[in-house]
Amino acid sequence: MRYLILGAGPAGVSAAETLVKADPEGHVTVVGGEPGEPYARMAIPYVLTGKIDKSGTHLRKTPGYLQSLGVTYIEGHVHSAKPCAKTVRLHDGQHLSYDRMLIATGARPVTPDVPGMDLDGVSHCWTLDDADAIAKRAKTGADVVLMGAGFIGCIILEALVERGVNLTVVEAEDRMIAKMMDKTGGELLRRWVERKGVALKTSTRVTEIRRHDGRLAVATDRGGDLEADLVVVSVGVKPNTEFIENKSIAMDGGVTVNEFLRTNTEEIWAAGDVARGPGFGGGFAVHAIQPTAVEHGRIAALNMAGQEVAYQGSLPMNVLDTMGLISASYGDWNAGGDVAVRLDAADWRYTKLAFRDDRLVGALTIGRTDMVGALRGLIQGRVKLGKWKDKLKADPTRTAEALVASFHD
Ligand SMILES: Cc1cc2nc3c(=O)[nH]c(=O)nc-3n(C[C@H](O)[C@H](O)[C@H](O)COP(=O)(O)OP(=O)(O)OC[C@H]3O[C@@H](n4cnc5c(N)ncnc54)[C@H](O)[C@@H]3O)c2cc1C
Repeated sequence: MRYLILGAGPAGVSAAETLVKADPEGHVTVVGGEPGEPYARMAIPYVLTGKIDKSGTHLRKTPGYLQSLGVTYIEGHVHSAKPCAKTVRLHDGQHLSYDRMLIATGARPVTPDVPGMDLDGVSHCWTLDDADAIAKRAKTGADVVLMGAGFIGCIILEALVERGVNLTVVEAEDRMIAKMMDKTGGELLRRWVERKGVALKTSTRVTEIRRHDGRLAVATDRGGDLEADLVVVSVGVKPNTEFIENKSIAMDGGVTVNEFLRTNTEEIWAAGDVARGPGFGGGFAVHAIQPTAVEHGRIAALNMAGQEVAYQGSLPMNVLDTMGLISASYGDWNAGGDVAVRLDAADWRYTKLAFRDDRLVGALTIGRTDMVGALRGLIQGRVKLGKWKDKLKADPTRTAEALVASFHD
């Protein structure tokens, strides 16, 4: 069996490892679109802060690791894929054919339709090359504008602050991490970063970036220019699927897959950021975090090798360290209706629980690392709360007790 994996990120590498074990007779080829060893994007902020060097981002320590497993590794860019002919063409003209293929090409950052995005000194933070471009300009005391304060934007924020820059964040939403925090939590985060010296401009859009006196002038819809040595852009991502010819594979904000991570085309699977995979508790969604990509890759590969293994669905869960303040969101925190809230603003603590009937279906926390395990256990375990629901509504911080009580029911 000839297996072809497009993409050498966490999803592609995990799939290759799994296939080599699950089908020792098969032959696995991986196509990676970036130079060098396969690496983890989530490690890029640590390169920026100097905690690791570039080799620390490599997904596996041994150089030539995939090749050492007997995998054929091709550094190249997929130009087009023809599912009907089971062939793929690379940009250099090379043709590859396969029996079974995995699409694990991840996503790429969106470039907003704003004049000046192509100027020197305007950069995404997505690849190791981007990290080089940022490091060159993000020196101590440099003026930096960060466009976007979503999950990844806030991870970048942390790294930029550690580099000692003067940071202004411009965010179109009315708060930071709007997809993982409500207004109350967002307000607490705003106070926190402002106290630490970050200028935060929410409900504000960048309208143009110009060169001005050797620096950058960033105009916004609130009027006035922000002067900058560097602009870092983090305003969302889109899946890398443009090479799929004639829309022959179903897509809906990501490649559509079933619970076996198989696409609507018999011999093609998809995994990681590019896939709209099964969510926790029903439904399908793109869940763009590394642990999901790794598990997608593993499960898709087992199915490609002929085993029938369903993906159990990933609990949407994001944990973020913003200059020492830890915020987290779990599951369906925005379910509406039945919620319990506790705000201890003076202590930088916030807890919100969302219930559906007798169960906890989602939560938000700030400053509560102690609750991570209990919240995950209660939501993922679909624990029936019984009398503990009222107790949690009276004091939403008692989640550990509620979880322990459930063991004895
Ligand atoms: C700055 C930053 C910080 C992050 N922090 C976290 C974090 O703290 N925690 C977390 O869980 N996640 C984090 N993430 C997200 C995480 O990196 C992704 O969810 C993860 O990389 C997804 O893995 P993937 O294999 O699906 O895609 P990717 O890692 O994007 O890999 C895709 C692969 O496909 C290749 N490719 C793309 N197009 C083509 C093509 N046409 N031809 C050939 N190859 C192609 C790419 O070169 C790459 O090798 C962060 C991301 C960034 C950018």
